[in-house]
Amino acid sequence: MENHKKESIEHKWEVTFELPTLESEAKLLHGFCFVGRDPVDFRPMIYKQHPKLKEMIDGTEDKDEFLKKCREYAESYIKEKLETLKQARDNFQAVWERDGGDAVVDSLCEEFEVDKEILKNGIKANVSINPICPRYLDKMAYSLFYEFSDVYVKKVSIHEIIHFLNFHKWRELFPETKRNAYESPHSEWILSEILVHVIINENQDIQNFVENSKSNVYMPWQKILVEGKTLVEYFTPFYLEHLAGKITFAEFLQQSWTAYKKNKVEIEGEINKK
Ligand SMILES: [Zn+2]
Repeated sequence: MENHKKESIEHKWEVTFELPTLESEAKLLHGFCFVGRDPVDFRPMIYKQHPKLKEMIDGTEDKDEFLKKCREYAESYIKEKLETLKQARDNFQAVWERDGGDAVVDSLCEEFEVDKEILKNGIKANVSINPICPRYLDKMAYSLFYEFSDVYVKKVSIHEIIHFLNFHKWRELFPETKRNAYESPHSEWILSEILVHVIINENQDIQNFVENSKSNVYMPWQKILVEGKTLVEYFTPFYLEHLAGKITFAEFLQQSWTAYKKNKVEIEGEINKK
């Protein structure tokens, strides 16, 4: 049965690391740099890596002109760094294979009770010149900055894969949830961004994979306290109950959601405070 299933999966690895495409890179730079639109302003992080981009687009107010400049910049940067980008792609894939990334994904599917069939098209990791790493839930694709260390590549990859699996589980449990609720700044998205760290820090397979490095919520959220505990501390006991076999993964999500809603005003009041 298991073997049969495996045979029906054509791709070799769960995660395939790929070179950036000019269009996607230009759009990413444009999306993050053309006026700060997210609750978090990512521009300083991007300009730190790409000071010449900042010079090029400084003062450009027209949206199309801005995108054109991002494209020009991305094209020359990718050209200049092509060998380095190829090396990064090969190295990321090798690290994933060497350290058993697929086995970790398999064990997560089992633990979350998610059918592995959802991964039948594989997960795509775009090796990017952009230091901010967005993920695309519907496409099961995400970005990784080409200068990331091996540990960070593993950590970001597992982080995004947890989101993909969670997204499916959540849709099963709460089919009425609207698609945009899984994205910033909605409550479901905030909770998913908390639980992902709880899981990374407590799951032993993941901890072995990420060389025991710990993970935490976005910096501004780290100050938030619920009943005297940080967000990660507050939600950890629910996951520990699950790890102890007392509740299913689905129940862990349900209980966490109930607890989140109870404390929603406190949590979101802080997050939305500017
Ligand atoms: Zn995340």
